[in-house]
Amino acid sequence: MKGEWNEKEDNKKYIEQLREYVRLLAMKAEADEKMASEILEILLKTDPERGISDEEIEGITGYRQSDVRKVLRVLYNAKLSTYKRGKHPESEATRYYWYIDMKSVSLAIVKRKKSVLEKLKSRLEYEKSHEFYKCPKDNTRYTFDDAFEYDFTCPKCGSLLEPDDNSSYIKVLEERIARLEEEIKSDEKKVFGS
Ligand SMILES: [Zn+2]
Repeated sequence: MKGEWNEKEDNKKYIEQLREYVRLLAMKAEADEKMASEILEILLKTDPERGISDEEIEGITGYRQSDVRKVLRVLYNAKLSTYKRGKHPESEATRYYWYIDMKSVSLAIVKRKKSVLEKLKSRLEYEKSHEFYKCPKDNTRYTFDDAFEYDFTCPKCGSLLEPDDNSSYIKVLEERIARLEEEIKSDEKKVFGS
């Protein structure tokens, strides 16, 4: 592989990001976060040459097969885990042996960062192109159009709305965007080579 790929160091970094990502995915899929984290740790300890079946994961964790499969599906759909087909040692039935491939993990993480970047950018665009008003009592924020609609009076409590200066929020967004762009650039260099 080309690039300055320091496998051990980079893997450590990606594994941290992977853990965070999996917690988020589990939350979105309404799967148990703790269970998802536990299954991820098992997969991380699994030799990719061999893989591990859902039955074996059940045996280790005691979780129900349907729950284990749900987590495996979440990981697979996000391209974080993959499998190879094999045969059950006794029954000869087809078995799927799951494992984590760090190369696809790093690709999936870069992809995720790019989608976060897009969201931040459209948020920034929105903040820059709108004026905002705020209720001084309950801090609810309104766009100029909404505030105008409400005669600049908070529809919740009747207080007079005040202009809300979002310049510091814009600055925070710009900093986060710049940092993320740097991160993506350096990730891509490592993953694809320069
Ligand atoms: Zn109010």
